[in-house]
Amino acid sequence: MPQLPAFNPLTNVNESPHVVILGAGASRAAFPNGDANGSRLPLMVDLVGCLGLGQAFQAAGFQKTVDFEALYDELATTGMHRSLREEIEAKVWSYFDRLQLPDAPTLYDCLLLSMRPKDCIATFNWDPFLAKAFLRNREFAPLPKILFLHGNVAIAVCIKDRVKGFSGDTCSNCGAPLQPTNLLYPVRRKNYKSDPFIFAEWKELEASLQQGYMLTIFGYAAPATDVEAVDLLLRGWGDNPTFELAQVNIVDIKPEEELRKTWERFLCRTHYGTTRGAVARRWLWLLSKMTRGKKTRSPGSSRWHSCMRGLRRCLPRKIKADSLATHVSSRRTSAETRQKKVQRRARTGFLVG
Ligand SMILES: [Zn+2]
Repeated sequence: MPQLPAFNPLTNVNESPHVVILGAGASRAAFPNGDANGSRLPLMVDLVGCLGLGQAFQAAGFQKTVDFEALYDELATTGMHRSLREEIEAKVWSYFDRLQLPDAPTLYDCLLLSMRPKDCIATFNWDPFLAKAFLRNREFAPLPKILFLHGNVAIAVCIKDRVKGFSGDTCSNCGAPLQPTNLLYPVRRKNYKSDPFIFAEWKELEASLQQGYMLTIFGYAAPATDVEAVDLLLRGWGDNPTFELAQVNIVDIKPEEELRKTWERFLCRTHYGTTRGAVARRWLWLLSKMTRGKKTRSPGSSRWHSCMRGLRRCLPRKIKADSLATHVSSRRTSAETRQKKVQRRARTGFLVG
């Protein structure tokens, strides 16, 4: 028997989590003109060109230098050209680390503000935009949990204390500077268990998928090198007792038939919808309406819209990309609130420091 979600008829709010999975297509859609300085958001297919890696691959004897996933996978599998691999990894880190969030509100700001603390956004992306959007919005509203399934240039951790924070933060437990996370590169045989941080992020996601009622997959193509990742996603979603009633939304520019084929194991009968990028903003409004409940039905008084008004009013003036570091360092964590956070810490996950 399928189980009903945690729906509260008095408030008209579905208390089951909404899980959003972000792939490279989501960052491309959220930042169509690139970052604050116009640097392009690469997809895997144009990563070699965007990062200027073609020459290095050609110098190492590779003829076809288009498909980064295939090239990197070959380097990792054969163990050849170790220095080239190190050079590539350094360039990837440096490129993504330099990306700056535009001052104006972005789709990621909207996404974060339209979701609740019980919801979850899990990203495969290395770019810092979700983390930076989280940083500049957290004072406006309670935000959803954010998870980084392949590591991230803006996230740092203290493995010893299982504390997760932002680049430049110190550990809320031992006071030491948090260390950068490892990026998980596109190889066919990824080991999601070897890195304790990435393993914990996946465990958190699995728990959310098991309890969720809505699953949104935004710009994630499920490439060949991610077979294991898709199986892990399915393990969580497939174990969900509301699977037969739950709703899956896919936001992607691909034809519906292709999307249905890619994700058919995640879908039950007709409980799914597809949305193309052009109507992503409408989708966000609907998402906000569905997850935040009755109050959002009146746009003038809704929390989401007031958040958005606040964001539009405040962000360009108060928070600029350059001041994010100051914003982070000004965070005050008293012993009392630190203790509360420790109590709230998920059993398997890392505490957001
Ligand atoms: Zn520590």
